[in-house]
Amino acid sequence: MTTLTGRGVAPGTAVGRAVVAVREARQVRYRLAANGVERERQRLRTARERTRLELEEISSRISRTVGPAQAAIFAAQLLMLDDPLLTKRADELIRTERLNADWALERAIDELHQVFAREGDAWLRDRVGDFADVGGRLQGNVRPGRDPLVELIQELEPPLIIVADELPPSVAAQLDWSRVRGLVCAVGSPTHHTVILARSLGVPAVVGLGSATQVLMPGQMLAIDGTTGEVVVDPSDDAMDRWRRRGEIAEAALRGLDELRTRPAMTADGVRIRLEANLEMAEEVARVRDAGAEGIGLYRSEFLLDAHPESASEDAQLETYRTLLEAMRPLPVTIRTFDTGEERRVSPARSSGHRQRFGLRGIRAALQNDQRFRTQIRALLRAADAGSLRILLPFVTTSEELRQARALIAEIGRDLGANPVPVGAMIEVPAAALTVDHLAAYADFFSVGTNDLIQYTFAVDRTEERRAGPYEPGAPAVLRLLRSIALQGRRARVDLSVCGEMAGDPMMVALLVGLGFRSFSMTPAAIPILKRALAALDSQEAAVMARRARQAHTADMARAIVEPLAAAMHRAALTDPVS
Ligand code: PEP
Ligand code: MG
Repeated sequence: MTTLTGRGVAPGTAVGRAVVAVREARQVRYRLAANGVERERQRLRTARERTRLELEEISSRISRTVGPAQAAIFAAQLLMLDDPLLTKRADELIRTERLNADWALERAIDELHQVFAREGDAWLRDRVGDFADVGGRLQGNVRPGRDPLVELIQELEPPLIIVADELPPSVAAQLDWSRVRGLVCAVGSPTHHTVILARSLGVPAVVGLGSATQVLMPGQMLAIDGTTGEVVVDPSDDAMDRWRRRGEIAEAALRGLDELRTRPAMTADGVRIRLEANLEMAEEVARVRDAGAEGIGLYRSEFLLDAHPESASEDAQLETYRTLLEAMRPLPVTIRTFDTGEERRVSPARSSGHRQRFGLRGIRAALQNDQRFRTQIRALLRAADAGSLRILLPFVTTSEELRQARALIAEIGRDLGANPVPVGAMIEVPAAALTVDHLAAYADFFSVGTNDLIQYTFAVDRTEERRAGPYEPGAPAVLRLLRSIALQGRRARVDLSVCGEMAGDPMMVALLVGLGFRSFSMTPAAIPILKRALAALDSQEAAVMARRARQAHTADMARAIVEPLAAAMHRAALTDPVS
């Protein structure tokens, strides 16, 4: 039994067998049960036939169009396909070590690399690239056209724990999470969209275990704690008992919060605070109601595009939005238009995270890719009569963008003969934060996205735990920006809410209340916890603390100022299952 420690980012405990996914979940590894061996060997044979046909086709096309000499490369690759060190070796690994076909191929290719490196023969070394090419083609043909992890999770016996280097949200959105009990990632952070999704589904997660996919072996039993960040490998019976107890204590603590669900949130000195929920998967809307949310403050609609590409048609969207609005009626539902770039649409699993974070994204992409935005707005406006809809525009940077987007929405509304609905803007880019007063001319409400705001304020990647620089929600620079947003919003008399992950953290909410915010949207499970935390907070005291923290010169000094009050709130809110 070994224990590793990463960072707990989604609370709860889980026990299950490891499924390992690497290279952004393009390659998967697991151990087969005895009765799964034949199916896997067949899968390898089929992949070999597909690869053979492809290579024959490429070879004859190149021969015709370029010349026989160039086609010889592919004739040689066809021979490699039958090399005993490749498919035959992979087949042997499936039989003897019970590796899945993808993993067996990966191992065979690695072994080939080692042989070639030892041989030192220049001709052989030149062939390595070709072997890797054939191997890659074979791997792609084991599960053609699908994300391998999505298919695999469907085949394996639960309970499962995914161990990944990085699990992209586009893959996470397609998984059957009822079969997955926990998530362990080499990289990631509390604001990574996959982690946000895990948290809202109640799936414990640990990130920042850099060597996770090398140290944790497929098929191993794991026990994880998403609060403390512990990952126990091959837990003893004793450890399993302890884990079970932790789970029971945490559940009891949550049951203790049940009576809070129907009560409104209030600070100790009687200031009313509005608590709404964030939602990623529309089918999870029951969690929002169960948590006692006063509405949906942020529905991240782009998860629709990842989960099922066909769900992006106007009628499919209409159906989803209508169901959501009906389920929440009469409470408001804030649907954010797709916060994504162009590339996510083309090939979800292959999109570049970098390009998604920068460049043509959110409202910018919407204004350029007119058609997709129009389709979504049409679906939204057609669904509006099913409940209380608010449309939220992401990644706004200037009032001109907002003006154009509103004009487009108004035009579509006129075409449809639809009633107008409130349209708001995310404040998540410093340029927007500094011009809230101008944006107010075109916005019915604002929602502050602290996840991106902090990322762009510090120029650090929010999705990467081991960042090159600070990602400090409580740093003076962030607090000053937030205070400015709160003041500008108040002066302009526009509704203002905070929907980044900061809003669901009892320690940070003390600061946010102190800065003047009165409305928050968060992962559903955090709502009852926050109600208890807020009941222990005096808003005047919070204001004094926030003012002092804004004046601090360093993030550490700000933290020291906030600490006593925040810790008291934290204690009030949580019955820590570990202590
Ligand atoms: C944010 O940026 O804070 C936010 C709520 O949006 P997302 O996390 O989806 O980028
Ligand atoms: Mg954002």
